[in-house]
Amino acid sequence: MDIINILPDSVANQIAAGEVVDRPAGAVKELLENSMDAGATQIDLVVKDAGRTLVQVIDNGSGMSDSDARLCFERHATSKIHQADDLFAIHTMGFRGEALASIAAIAQVELRTRQHDSELGTEVVIEGAHIVDQHPAACPAGTSLSVKNLFFNVPARRNFLKKDSVEFGHIEEVFRRVTLIHHDLGFTLTNNGKLVYDLKAGTLLQRIAGLYGAAYKERMYAVEEQTDLVKIKGFVSRPEFSRSRRGEQYLFVNGRYIKHPGLSTAVERAYGDLLPDHSYPSYFIGLQVDPSKIDINIHPTKTEVKFVDEHALFAILRSAVKRALGQFSLATELSFDTPEEFNLPPAPKGYTPQAPRVSFNPDYNPFHASGNQTRIKLDHTVTTERLEKIEKPDILETPAAAPAPVQPVAGTCLQVQGRYIATALSSGLALIDQQRAHERVLYHRLLQSNSGDRPSQTLMFPLQCHFSAADAEMLGELMPDLKDYGFEMSPMNQTTFVVTATPPDLKESDLQALFDQLLQDYKGSTMQKYNKRSESLCLSLARQMSVRSGSTLSQEQMQQLVADLFACPMAEVSPSGKRIITIVKPEELLK
Ligand code: ADP
Ligand code: MG
Repeated sequence: MDIINILPDSVANQIAAGEVVDRPAGAVKELLENSMDAGATQIDLVVKDAGRTLVQVIDNGSGMSDSDARLCFERHATSKIHQADDLFAIHTMGFRGEALASIAAIAQVELRTRQHDSELGTEVVIEGAHIVDQHPAACPAGTSLSVKNLFFNVPARRNFLKKDSVEFGHIEEVFRRVTLIHHDLGFTLTNNGKLVYDLKAGTLLQRIAGLYGAAYKERMYAVEEQTDLVKIKGFVSRPEFSRSRRGEQYLFVNGRYIKHPGLSTAVERAYGDLLPDHSYPSYFIGLQVDPSKIDINIHPTKTEVKFVDEHALFAILRSAVKRALGQFSLATELSFDTPEEFNLPPAPKGYTPQAPRVSFNPDYNPFHASGNQTRIKLDHTVTTERLEKIEKPDILETPAAAPAPVQPVAGTCLQVQGRYIATALSSGLALIDQQRAHERVLYHRLLQSNSGDRPSQTLMFPLQCHFSAADAEMLGELMPDLKDYGFEMSPMNQTTFVVTATPPDLKESDLQALFDQLLQDYKGSTMQKYNKRSESLCLSLARQMSVRSGSTLSQEQMQQLVADLFACPMAEVSPSGKRIITIVKPEELLK
């Protein structure tokens, strides 16, 4: 007896439909995507009873011809693939030609559509995959597709739906994912006759504000980065606006929403301890990656992706977010006094104001009296601006003098508990952790040094350091980098190195310990994995060479350190991710 049946299409479609559309939000996603594929610039989503009784999408896209309006409901009907090869070009865009066939199999569907160059459109009515009616219709150019009574013929699925608030929540989430990345299109969402969102085409930040409220505009820092591997653009929340639950966290790759725990971790790590415990940042970040760098063997309707070069991507994203957090927050916090507040005397007649020149010595170590001979010009715009503001009074008082290199002067500093430097800024009282600040300054300098231009001090007596054979071998590999930082050394035998010179700021008595720690840090460093050898080494050196908490600093040392710190990118966080500066606002001081 034969037992194999060929399932009728309608049944096959119903089964397959569950793959594509398992709840109203699934239909919403497919319809929105179709409208965008059709080149629509305005897309209106209307739902009733959380999509249970109606999901309707109206667009001003291309529209369809009379016959396409019927054909589009056939399985494997698609205008987007012509041959198997095309599949690979659009691998991130889901199954092809399945969505409308699936939806038509499990709902009552009404399609009204008109192409822009036709006078009359067409209306198609479908029930359970069968066309019950088609007739000409006067309708706007574009397409309106209504999905009524979803799962009317699949009670098991219908009963599986959650209460309306939950289902509408899913719809909103789909709507946010789509509209965030397509902020250049207009969207509305109407639920039970009430307009919930009215989003005008605009920038990503405008879209965020449209979805979450205008206050969000003030809560975000822009992230931007471009490397060979990836282009990153988006916004992250300022640490003080983090939330107690993971919520508004959106990553997009090549225009599609994705979930990627690794990349999410990269973003969160970038905050370091800027975030209070148990709180999470919001972020909206789009990545552009060459499609060949994305693993395509992943279910196409899923939001999971895999990248060929995940480690590098992780490192790039993390540092891009870090930079956004460090740079922009400082720039807004550290608004030094404006010239008016200085009560400047009027400039003498005939005086042509000259832009103050700032010079600053990156090798100056405030904790060693020597070494402030070499000064280089600084061309860090932000810094120059900041320092200009501090310097202006001096320069205007002596207008005739040729603009000579000026040592940047920070305001008077006070050392607190041998650990913090307190100094007044117009935005409040800044408390600066001296050790972390110095770590940041040293790290920045070390990173920028390359062979030749590092000063080093020659040791009176060459010093021997001893290692295990394995450590000695590793140290041998790191030697070229160490040379860049000012070390002169050579292997004497399999386990011993002779050191003849070190960076100027180092005590030779500490050398063995320094190398031991350096090797230990390097071996344990996660940065090593990302081929960031120099970052890892500089971090370890900066940590070890930085002035300790508890060391007493002179006024001049503190001012120099503060000026040096503000000249660094990411002056707000130490290279190991700890907060350096806390600003006590004037309101808080009053209390
Ligand atoms: P796919 O989008 O994968 O091609 P669908 O089943 O979602 O498969 O849609 C089938 C076809 O119907 C599309 O390829 C497109 O030609 C047409 N279509 C669907 N929705 C629209 C729309 N809103 N405007 C114009 N054409 C549409
Ligand atoms: Mg589609």
